[in-house]
Amino acid sequence: MTHVLILDTGEPVPYQLNHRPRLSVGLKITATGLVVHAPKRIAQAELERILLKKSAWIQKKLAGLSANPVPAMRWQHGEDLLYLGNSMRLVIERHAQSKAVRHEPGVLQLALPVPQDTKLVARKVVAWYKKQALQDFTRRLQIFASKLGVSFASLALSNASSRWGSCNSRKQIRLNWRLLQAPPHIINYVVCHELAHLKEMNHSAKFWATVASICPDYKIAEKELKSLSASLHRLKA
Ligand SMILES: [Zn+2]
Repeated sequence: MTHVLILDTGEPVPYQLNHRPRLSVGLKITATGLVVHAPKRIAQAELERILLKKSAWIQKKLAGLSANPVPAMRWQHGEDLLYLGNSMRLVIERHAQSKAVRHEPGVLQLALPVPQDTKLVARKVVAWYKKQALQDFTRRLQIFASKLGVSFASLALSNASSRWGSCNSRKQIRLNWRLLQAPPHIINYVVCHELAHLKEMNHSAKFWATVASICPDYKIAEKELKSLSASLHRLKA
């Protein structure tokens, strides 16, 4: 699950927390950012205290990461994917007839006659993300639209390289399917942002107050989204 560490400088650092049967806390920096392995029973406050002691190391490593572009997807067996803020492993199996895609917690499994067909792998994985995104985003839009007392006309998925969402005067909302990789609270923020535009078609103080009314932590979510942006764009359509 993705958590956020707030450094002494106030800078939010999203990290992936994996509980493992181990006694100490381990840190590593991967293509998608900071990954923490921690014992199952550690309290969150204790864990954050340990992480804060390693702030200097984390900042140095992350600075190095942002200096280097996120490694491109190779669309091979074993590839690390992100789904709702959790890591998900791409498993590709050879199968003569089947081209099924199966999702289990932590695993996206593809059956293909030719597992090395990276173009087909990419197409199938992206199609899976888009299908899930449409369901997931629709549900979130419905929940937050009713909280805000607004109604939207339609949802379409976008493939934009620079925008996460948009909304027009016809109440049509577009959301980038790559957001499905982000933690739920970040998707919620983008959903709330676009829905708030149904009341305020601008970025005035009134608009941000509307966002805050259904998404109080929007400022942190916005910063996190910026810091995750490069890794979310690893998936190309
Ligand atoms: Zn906006």
